[in-house]
Amino acid sequence: MIVFDKIAKSSKILNPLKHFKEDIVTFEYRADPLTGRNSTVIRGMLKYVCKSFVSDEELLGHLIEKTKIGCPFCPGSVKERTPMFTPDFLEAGRILVGDTVVIPNLLGHAERSVLAVLSREHYLKLNDFTAKLILDGFKGGLAYLKRLNEVEPLIRFPVFIFNYLPPAGSSILHPHMQVLARDRPFYLVKLLLEKSKIYCERSKSSYWSDLISKEKNGARYLFGINNVEWLVPFAPLRGSNEVQAIVQGKSNLLELDDEEWLGLAEGISKILQFYHKQGYVSFNIILVSGPMNRHLDYFDVNLRMISRPGIQASSFTDAWGLPYLLWDGEAMEEPELFAEKIKKFIRATD
Ligand SMILES: [Zn+2]
Repeated sequence: MIVFDKIAKSSKILNPLKHFKEDIVTFEYRADPLTGRNSTVIRGMLKYVCKSFVSDEELLGHLIEKTKIGCPFCPGSVKERTPMFTPDFLEAGRILVGDTVVIPNLLGHAERSVLAVLSREHYLKLNDFTAKLILDGFKGGLAYLKRLNEVEPLIRFPVFIFNYLPPAGSSILHPHMQVLARDRPFYLVKLLLEKSKIYCERSKSSYWSDLISKEKNGARYLFGINNVEWLVPFAPLRGSNEVQAIVQGKSNLLELDDEEWLGLAEGISKILQFYHKQGYVSFNIILVSGPMNRHLDYFDVNLRMISRPGIQASSFTDAWGLPYLLWDGEAMEEPELFAEKIKKFIRATD
């Protein structure tokens, strides 16, 4: 049984913007229906911080030109300057799918850590991330995971991570995604697996299918493509334009078929078009999986994506103490209003 638990709070201030008249500040606490983690929805916050989310175009242009010099992922360099797989793992040394080149990571973040360089272009605007480009990246990453599963089946927990531009934590500007695989799940995956199992034992049903049934065609539901359902989460993890996707009935990445990978790629591309229209240039995505060696009825492969601040001289970051160290969530506008903005955009472009 899914419960969307929220409670409204308020405080009184004498507001200097209204000649120090008494004013009421309102917000609400929302509990994530699976984990119980709090996310505070702060009305009006987006308007207050939005100036930090746009980019200084001149500064962005300088950054692109500066990082192009010596970029290891640009054509010409990628085959000369990036690591290769050892022949026992992959005879060809690198995996090629369309413009995607999959290579081992020079400094790994997990015991199996690879990169998918996505494009021949050094810089892409968010509306240049086509479904094909993203799909080729997924296909390259999947080819790696299939080989890994043959060679080292105990490394069961993969994630795809996409960090684009420095505000999203990327040290190399050139578009790429990471595939990290470990013998143990990342903390969020562990939490989702544990909580999903408890939910299933109590409710005799899957949290993920219950969530889709409850959200489908509601205020936060966005669209469905090829068995992949897209929505705005009730209590965002981070809150900067956060969108969630769920691949129904598939608990690990090796179970997804071509159509479902396309459903993920097309959905990401649609949301990135929306981010671009709103003036954003930077984003993060995580795609999480249950263990690759078994099917779990209580867990579905799922994705989260958020926009990040713009390129500015002030180096503003939304990774401040509250979300980063206190592990609480904040949404800068009501998730339902945000979902409506995306739906309006998609209706206008379809
Ligand atoms: Zn480059």
